[in-house]
Amino acid sequence: MTDLYRLLPEEMEQLVIDMGYPRYRADQILLPLYYKFPKDISEIKQLPKQMREELIAAGYTIGSAKEIHQVVSEDGDTTKLLLKLTNDSSVEAVLMQYDPSKIGGHPRSTICVSTQIGCAMGCVFCATGQMGFETNLKAEHIVSQVIHFAELLQKRGEHVTNLVFMGMGEPMANYDEMIRAVRILTHDRGFGLGQRHITISTIGIRSGIEKLADENLQIGLAISLHAPNNELRKKLVPTAIPNSVEDIIESGRYYFKKTGRRVTFEYALMAGINDSPEIAQELARLLKGNGSHVNLIPINPTAGDFKRPTEKNIREFEQILSNAGVNCTVRVEKGTEISAACGQLRTDIIG
Ligand code: SAH
Ligand code: SF4
Repeated sequence: MTDLYRLLPEEMEQLVIDMGYPRYRADQILLPLYYKFPKDISEIKQLPKQMREELIAAGYTIGSAKEIHQVVSEDGDTTKLLLKLTNDSSVEAVLMQYDPSKIGGHPRSTICVSTQIGCAMGCVFCATGQMGFETNLKAEHIVSQVIHFAELLQKRGEHVTNLVFMGMGEPMANYDEMIRAVRILTHDRGFGLGQRHITISTIGIRSGIEKLADENLQIGLAISLHAPNNELRKKLVPTAIPNSVEDIIESGRYYFKKTGRRVTFEYALMAGINDSPEIAQELARLLKGNGSHVNLIPINPTAGDFKRPTEKNIREFEQILSNAGVNCTVRVEKGTEISAACGQLRTDIIG
């Protein structure tokens, strides 16, 4: 079985030609796939009936992910979908809508996708990390997460504006499927999302970051740093050892040099662990002058007993970085009450 959402437009063309049909038939599949969101090949009425039947007989399908549950936050800004996948597991994806009247800027509908079920990195503060690694998602599973939300938004006359790879899993640990999904989602004959509207978040795997830098794409990169030195980082990210803080900074520089895109360093703030003024100063020294941006994420509650720093401590930490000339923001958190926020995604909890 091959899901049509797995194919790059060029591959779709090749498939159509191999089946003995003219090239333009590929667009008659691609257009409905990315604008009408059919649930079954039989719904692609643009194609001759015989061709639809041939595709089905050859083992092509649509629908690697079926919606089984939807939860919406009280303010209506965050929607979490639980999707059941063909490999019998389920995955969560989140839609976050930002209202410009509340935070300024343009209205945004950002989708947060997962790349794995569970995660092998074992970060101590992350619910996904604590459930361990289950499986890698296929590109079609990643694309389908976006498609489900695209359909939901289309019904309201809206559309997907941004995409972040910040759901379950470590994107660099599933590189080939992740990058295939990115290519489909950004292809102008695929989903057509601008590369600059995509951000990949990684725990900091140097080889993956450098490979991504060499892809010649304009996608954004966020690196989850969480600590300015190896000793502390090792306690929070137990699998961090092969990628030292120095390696990570170096790979961030390489990414910036190759793509011209500024790297964001994510920093989950945990009371009494990595939020002291001394640590803020150490972080400032580490990042000063390399043009990067720090996104502070006050920790969200998970099974672990980590606590959010007080508002005062968060502001102080931010101030120390800003005073040192390090560009810094505190993340506007969304969906905490429906367990849809950073680090809260896992599959055995619904709602
Ligand atoms: N594996 C990737 C992408 C998924 S995690 C990564 O780690 O970057 C996305 C972001 O959520 C990361 O910055 C991660 O550190 C953060 N995160 C994880 N658990 C969290 C928690 N409990 N509270 C706040 N942020 C958390
Ligand atoms: Fe995996 Fe990212 Fe969670 Fe760490 S924070 S366990 S890398 S998903």
